[in-house]
Amino acid sequence: MLRVSNIKINISLDQDKYIKKKLSSIFDQDIKEYKINKRSIDARHKPDIYYIYEIDIDVKNEKEYLDLGIASEVFDEEYKIDQSKIKKSLKRPIIIGFGPAGIFCSYILAKAGLKPIIFERGKQIDERIKDVEEFWKSNNLNINSNIQFGEGGAGTFSDGKLNTMIKEKIRQKFVFKTFVECGAPEEILYLNKPHIGTDVLRTVIKNLRNKIIELGGEIHYNSCLTNINVDNNKIKSIVINDQDEYETDDLVLAIGHSARDTFKMLHNFLEMSPKPFAVGVRVQHKQDLINKNQYGESYKLLPPADYKLTYQTKDGRGVYSFCMCPGGFVVNSSSENNRLCINGMSNHDRDEENANSAIVVTISPSDYGSDIFDGMKFQEMLENKAYIEGKRLIPVSLYKDYKLNQVSTSFGSIKPIFKGGYSFGNINNIFPEYINNSLKEAIDYFNTKIKGFNDDDTIIAAVEART
Ligand SMILES: Cc1cc2nc3c(=O)[nH]c(=O)nc-3n(C[C@H](O)[C@H](O)[C@H](O)COP(=O)(O)OP(=O)(O)OC[C@H]3O[C@@H](n4cnc5c(N)ncnc54)[C@H](O)[C@@H]3O)c2cc1C
Repeated sequence: MLRVSNIKINISLDQDKYIKKKLSSIFDQDIKEYKINKRSIDARHKPDIYYIYEIDIDVKNEKEYLDLGIASEVFDEEYKIDQSKIKKSLKRPIIIGFGPAGIFCSYILAKAGLKPIIFERGKQIDERIKDVEEFWKSNNLNINSNIQFGEGGAGTFSDGKLNTMIKEKIRQKFVFKTFVECGAPEEILYLNKPHIGTDVLRTVIKNLRNKIIELGGEIHYNSCLTNINVDNNKIKSIVINDQDEYETDDLVLAIGHSARDTFKMLHNFLEMSPKPFAVGVRVQHKQDLINKNQYGESYKLLPPADYKLTYQTKDGRGVYSFCMCPGGFVVNSSSENNRLCINGMSNHDRDEENANSAIVVTISPSDYGSDIFDGMKFQEMLENKAYIEGKRLIPVSLYKDYKLNQVSTSFGSIKPIFKGGYSFGNINNIFPEYINNSLKEAIDYFNTKIKGFNDDDTIIAAVEART
């Protein structure tokens, strides 16, 4: 099989017909079948917008085309578990946390025949959904069953963007194929920026769980790791919910970024170091505004547009957009009492009226202190201020009022789209001055990239503290 890159077809054309036509001319033979390996959008020459394809194809006289450099050979290597490397332990491995990391770790260990035991502090997905919806309705938070904690982990109530910084393709393909086997749309195998959507993810997670159980894995919910027993610098057993002890030789901590109580407990056993992160707000614009900026008037032929923006402030601080959710919701994603944080979420169709994204400012130990938990304390402080500013609800403001350091009294042309209650507050009261200044400088600059980004009516909400 050969792979041919850079097949460029205008989005207004019948894609299948023109792909075949183009391939037939490149290979000088009639092409009836092909497989898309990758598809991206090229909108650099608006109003002409193109899909760019990488196509895999079987043709006659492959060698001839390879020699001419027209195509390359396809090496579709499958991810395989190397049985020779599997340690034959008498005790079953234990995994803490059933988010993406814990799920895939468990699945691979289960495929290797090691029958992992998984402990997850939150509930099974259906129960968890009820708790999250109840929280959005009544503001009654369950600290172990919420947007951060429970089966599927923090990304379950998300856009389901499949982001990775890992360039290694074999494992990546394995992950994507597993998602498709469990109910994700096939398009994730070839789209340049694949996403699943929170509605579809919920089914995918259930199917992944069932695969693990079928392979001999065992999942315990409502089960929080509360201590570790170490003997001679080696793990002996773990303690769940302060009472039940389980022996193991192999422990995987897949606990995500929000289990602050567990981080403190682990500090007794592990060396840890603070790491720079970013905090900020989430902005909402009309999706149409983003579409028109990115694609011009052809946007109706294309899926909802996204963006990625970066800026360096005059005093050298990095500000960037993060976790952009086309056609989505801004959600209250708190997991601790008296603290409030937010995030973004979309369904697969991304069909809500607004686009949202986090606009965050990079901060480092020189801003918040070099003690091991100073960064965490800083996050907690911001989340508490957001909780107070919003009177227990998501604090929101028009961008105009954020700049004028005042509380908004009504929304403008953009209808707010939130999951969870919200109330007007002065976002300036939440952050130190250098963060407020950096955010405003960057949002005004982003208007030079996306016209309307800093409109008076742009809705901002806080606080994004868990990037
Ligand atoms: C609302 C939202 C939207 C997001 N959208 C996206 C997106 O579109 N794309 C993207 O790539 N990323 C997104 N993210 C980030 C993404 O969720 C995380 O990168 C990802 O979930 C990390 O996976 P993980 O398995 O390491 O940790 P997590 O998903 O955080 O999972 C950790 C699990 O461990 C459990 N746990 C913690 N402590 C204990 C303990 N002591 N005992 C037992 N269990 C414990 C938790 O309950 C949790 O289920 C989003 C996050 C949020 C909150």
